[in-house]
Amino acid sequence: MADIKRKCVGCGQMKNRNEMIRLTRRNTDGVLIVNPDSKTFGRSAYLCYNHDCIKKSFIKNKLSRVLKVQVPDKLKGQLIDGQY
Ligand SMILES: [Zn+2]
Repeated sequence: MADIKRKCVGCGQMKNRNEMIRLTRRNTDGVLIVNPDSKTFGRSAYLCYNHDCIKKSFIKNKLSRVLKVQVPDKLKGQLIDGQY
């Protein structure tokens, strides 16, 4: 199952899931988790480990629209700082 491909919200390229940042809106409480463990279920979005893609995903709230939840500024800051 290593070759499951996911689309980056920033650049739109398809890449292997394990080569991407995963953001999941946890079903139980709606909290956004960065690179959650396999027991976390919810709506997910994917990003390349790449500054440009992260920044692009914030333009026009793209990432928020994909996840159907507002991405907190704190989390955006974390991602931009490379904390994932
Ligand atoms: Zn990308």
